[in-house]
Amino acid sequence: MIDTHVHVEFQRKPNAESSATGHTYGLGLQMLASAGATTVIDLGGSMETLRMAIEARGSGINVGGLGYLKPGETVPEGRINYAQIEKVVNTAMDAGSIGVKLWGGYYPFTPEETSNFIRAANEMTAYVAFHLGTTETGSRLDGLREIPSLLGANGRVHIAHINAYCRGSILPVEEEIIESLQILTDLRSQIVSEVHLARPNFTLGKCDPDGNVLADVCQNCLSLKGYATTADGLRSALMDGYASTVEATSAGLILVSGKRGVELFNEGNTDVQMSFPVNNSTSAFQLTVAKNSQDEFIIDAVGSDAGILPRNVNIEQCMQLVKFGGLDPLELVMKLSLNPAKMIGLENKGRLSEGKDGDLTIIDPIHGRAVYGVVAGRLVMIDGRVVGNGGKILTTQRGVAAVEETGIPYQVIDLTKAMMYAGR
Ligand SMILES: [Zn+2]
Repeated sequence: MIDTHVHVEFQRKPNAESSATGHTYGLGLQMLASAGATTVIDLGGSMETLRMAIEARGSGINVGGLGYLKPGETVPEGRINYAQIEKVVNTAMDAGSIGVKLWGGYYPFTPEETSNFIRAANEMTAYVAFHLGTTETGSRLDGLREIPSLLGANGRVHIAHINAYCRGSILPVEEEIIESLQILTDLRSQIVSEVHLARPNFTLGKCDPDGNVLADVCQNCLSLKGYATTADGLRSALMDGYASTVEATSAGLILVSGKRGVELFNEGNTDVQMSFPVNNSTSAFQLTVAKNSQDEFIIDAVGSDAGILPRNVNIEQCMQLVKFGGLDPLELVMKLSLNPAKMIGLENKGRLSEGKDGDLTIIDPIHGRAVYGVVAGRLVMIDGRVVGNGGKILTTQRGVAAVEETGIPYQVIDLTKAMMYAGR
């Protein structure tokens, strides 16, 4: 199982005082291996946290990373020009990342800046993924409608979790699904994409000093059910069980709401992970199985958008779709292995034949879950228990010097072979 959309660590900087995120380095890698992943892409992190995760609790799986783009941290504050944008992408590539991740739903740039980030990444054949939204649109259907103007005739991009833009916030869900599939079909040569199949989403609860929720995604979730987009609105949603936050327990990370949820929210001074059961199963399933007139999947892969987020359900949910008849078993392999390998340009993965890498995920067909994980011929997981350690970093030629310094094994990948550049 190759997962092109995971989060090895939480987006925000770890806060030792927060019980929700303290001492979790590597936990995401453990959770991924436990769920059957063998190769993953950390969609918006840093090589520094990736190194720390592998050193602390690597699970033996392969990991590539996209550098996150956040004003004040990896990007200069204020409006930025093309030269500055190029420099930011160069910095990520030189650090060993395979590209960059635009986090429009959290840290939106102007349409022009967004377009420039994509162009700069494309010009250096870097991977570029986009969680939709600019200063003009949101992480909704309007974000998808904006894509043609952002890409122009030649732009290439990986659009994250298409299902997250089909929650019925602009049109009825069914109509949002149809329009999204049409946009993806029209831009088939320019876009690669994935869907996740989990009901809970994840976002940030952080509020400004006046108590207003900052994240666009979090605001939308509150508004959907008529809650105020404030810290008090979040507290009410937590008490009602609509919102949850994350707590680390000996059994791993879990979702918590009610009184304990409010306690964690207050302890973290609002700056905590929040989750809402907003992902619509109709849109997730329909987007996953949708095909074009050539009988090809319109959306290339299923990606978990999990890892450290407790919803590593790729295999369970795809197996449900197999049982339901939405996917046949080989199509499940296409969604979870072959297409993800092609998306990253990994010619030695995603298929099982002589000379290819010995990476396998064995699924129990009765219970519909991964029971063995094998990376390079070595067992990394047995029945959910992680037995692998360490890991291998996927990087590009430009990142070799930086990754060599970490002492962690690495593999150089050639992104000219990646689906967004090489085609399907
Ligand atoms: Zn994500």
